[in-house]
Amino acid sequence: MCIFCKIAAGEIPTNFLYESARVVAFKDLDPQAPAHILIIPRQHFENAAELAAADSATLSELFGAARELAATLGLDGYRITFNTGASAGQSVFHAHLHLLGGRPFAWPPG
Ligand code: 5GP
Ligand code: ZN
Repeated sequence: MCIFCKIAAGEIPTNFLYESARVVAFKDLDPQAPAHILIIPRQHFENAAELAAADSATLSELFGAARELAATLGLDGYRITFNTGASAGQSVFHAHLHLLGGRPFAWPPG
């Protein structure tokens, strides 16, 4: 079982900031901004493309959870990102939406 499957299943004790039948969200271990939350499907998909192909309702819920969390945290601007594939910086191969906020962000990204 992958690390995010273990987190979603409760095998690794984790404080969920958002939780539903299909989705959980929790703080990133190595935050890249004052607010850095990972929003994941409970079910294992390798990346966002696999999730989009298989379960668009859950994909949509990830974005809804990001909106709710950003509002709860009072983020005036934020970035949401799926790193998809190793060349784009993906290091955990269980689909996850990054929610980053609390500081300005540059464009283009690195
Ligand atoms: P990626 O590089 O795949 O887009 O993002 C993976 C993210 O997961 C990284 O930001 C990394 O810090 C985070 N991460 C990796 N392992 C763990 C873990 O065991 N717990 C938590 N909370 N975050 C993790
Ligand atoms: Zn997994």
